Amino acid sequence: MPSMDPVGSKGSNGGPKADFFARKQRIEQQRKSLPIASVEKRLMDEVRSHDILIIVGETGSGKTTQLPQYLFNAGFCRDGKIIGITQPRRVAAVTVAKRVAEECGVEMGQRVGYSIRFDDMTSSSTRIKYMTDGLLLREALLDKYLSKYSVIIVDEAHERTVDTDVLLGILKSVQKDRSRPINQLPNIDHTKVNNGVVIDKENDSQRASSLNQCRGLKLSPLKLIIMSASLDARGFSEYFGGARAVHVQGRQFPVDIFYTKAPETDYLDATLITIFQIHLEEGAGDVLVFLTGQEEIESVERLVLEKLQQLPEEKRKLKVLPIYSSLPSEKQMQVFMPAPTGFRKVDLSFMFEFFSVVYDLDAFGYVILATNIAETSVTIPGIKYVIDPGLVKARTYSARTGMESLVVVPTSKAQALQRSGRAGREGPGKCFRLYPEREFEKLSDSTVPEIKRCNLSKVVLQLKALGVDDIIGFDFMEKPLREAVIKSLELLALLGALTEESRLSKPVGHQMARLPLDPTHAKALILASQFNCLEEMLITVAMLSVESIFYAPREKLEEARTAAKCFSSLEGDHLTLINVFRASDELFEKSKIGNNREKAEKNMRKWCKENFINSRSVRQARDIHRQATSSFLSLKPKYDWQIRENVEQMGLHVASCGDDMLQFRRCLAAAFFLNAALKQPDGTYRVLSSGQSVQIHPSSVLFRTKPDCLIFDELVRTNHNYIRNVSRVDYLWLPELAPQYYTLKE
Ligand code: ADP
Ligand code: MG
Repeated sequence: MPSMDPVGSKGSNGGPKADFFARKQRIEQQRKSLPIASVEKRLMDEVRSHDILIIVGETGSGKTTQLPQYLFNAGFCRDGKIIGITQPRRVAAVTVAKRVAEECGVEMGQRVGYSIRFDDMTSSSTRIKYMTDGLLLREALLDKYLSKYSVIIVDEAHERTVDTDVLLGILKSVQKDRSRPINQLPNIDHTKVNNGVVIDKENDSQRASSLNQCRGLKLSPLKLIIMSASLDARGFSEYFGGARAVHVQGRQFPVDIFYTKAPETDYLDATLITIFQIHLEEGAGDVLVFLTGQEEIESVERLVLEKLQQLPEEKRKLKVLPIYSSLPSEKQMQVFMPAPTGFRKVDLSFMFEFFSVVYDLDAFGYVILATNIAETSVTIPGIKYVIDPGLVKARTYSARTGMESLVVVPTSKAQALQRSGRAGREGPGKCFRLYPEREFEKLSDSTVPEIKRCNLSKVVLQLKALGVDDIIGFDFMEKPLREAVIKSLELLALLGALTEESRLSKPVGHQMARLPLDPTHAKALILASQFNCLEEMLITVAMLSVESIFYAPREKLEEARTAAKCFSSLEGDHLTLINVFRASDELFEKSKIGNNREKAEKNMRKWCKENFINSRSVRQARDIHRQATSSFLSLKPKYDWQIRENVEQMGLHVASCGDDMLQFRRCLAAAFFLNAALKQPDGTYRVLSSGQSVQIHPSSVLFRTKPDCLIFDELVRTNHNYIRNVSRVDYLWLPELAPQYYTLKE
């Protein structure tokens, strides 16, 4: 970890006020020197004269942080309207919002805010709102015409996440609708429109109805801006009927590319060797390494630290910073905190609780271990070297088996270029691709859009809830596979979310659509209220929504196993997760006595370390599960994504099954029946619904016991088809609890 400076400690010389102004001035200078700054006026003219604008520009040119501010200054927030900017990733939405709040010199949640699943930092004064693409889709459920927004910017559109693709389709039709007179719009309560905005507050509706007496009333028009780092804007332009595309020139220094002579058998090992080669042989400059996920990042982090210990004292000056999508619970405002003299402060503070990251200016080199979030969505300053193993974790889906899985696959050429580009932001750099050059030539040009390789049940459920009944006929930028749509309709019907006419069922389908969860998890919650174990299922779903809870470093495998034993349940991983959650809860409540939250958090971290539990994951799960309390000072969340409050508002009965874990497991069987698998004579399992052959993941508590029948949460494909988070169920429960799918005969 870098040297850290606790919040509130003394800054450098000159006092806080001088620091504040120095920092403000520096930010102003930085802003003015960005490539996008020289075209501000032209861009605003383009936005004024085009309802849809596509902006492409190299990463780091200032699109994400600057454009919303330009729009604000150009008056696009008049009448209290909001500029919304969507990001595919939660971390990106949060970091960028923090940066922009700092640039504007406002407190987070005031003029500038963000909103992501389970975390809303906006208020009635928010005008520039960063959010995930998925969240805007959920807002559309409440406000079909997204009438609060004057401009919506779909950022990082080149990533083509499934949510981005669905959003593009929805926005296209919303924009058309908003240019039509209200009385021609379907499904709109005319009495709830005021000043071009659909209002949700009951007491405002009277005022609106009198206004609505005027004929020809329209919602205010919507401007759409699609931003992408890929230089090919054609696809987007064609989709939006030949929309105008403009290019923002970036700044890029040359980057030397190095390849390995032969393919690497162990790319983590190759990564480690390359990190140390750079550290020991190359000149100063930070290293950015692209890895596939949290677990891998953590193991490389440990290996680097271990290897450092073997070096002579003077060669140990290397620090490791991990970046991935989990977020701390405390939203610390440390933006105006200056760095002490001789230190360089970099705004990666969002990754650490209570601290901001302060780099020691001369003494240390840094190696930043990141997922593909660092490709285009956040800019990390100071990078001179990039290590690219050429891999990325991606979703794949087989419409034949109906199974979605996570697999590590080669990047596309476009991704490889983005990654190497990160080394040339501030000066010439080097990129080490850990594969031979001939392999690069074999890579596909760009990544296949996610919508073509994922389970569509969540998307279909959402579209149905948005009133789109004909999924296959929906105006997608790229159509999903027909078989995949049909499979997901089947799945939703089996879960009871659709009627025979393939409409959302009442109440189950509507309830499921309202929960910001995977449909099977949503169904598990709904069922749990009938099985009297909703308390337990809420914990389970929260724990399943985060990356792995346990970690087992190679060198301490046995220790980790022993530590995990005190939580493990013979019934399976779901109950084990509940045990961990409850133990952490107990500890937290106990050490919170005296209201010292900081101490409680510290105790928690210590406890997690001792038990080989990932403290970030537990904290995240606690956040998701936590009963909704206003998370930030006086700001009251308007959209409440806390699942607990959601289920309570639906009228579901939150009760605990106490020690009766049979009920809980029966409930799991009833919800996850499509993920049921039977043991085969050779110790592997066969998934009943798909016939696939799978194995229990070694991290499971049931890895050795191997029950006859089980249900699982997810399928992960590495060198084997692994199922993760499994629980023992009784074979005979399946026909009893899921008669729509299993007959006794089978
Ligand atoms: P783009 O969206 O075009 O990739 P951004 O608007 O994200 O560009 O970033 C523009 C510049 O703002 C970056 O090059 C970087 O110098 C600066 N910047 C962005 N985020 C941060 C941050 N969190 N801390 C410090 N500087 C930042
Ligand atoms: Mg950007």
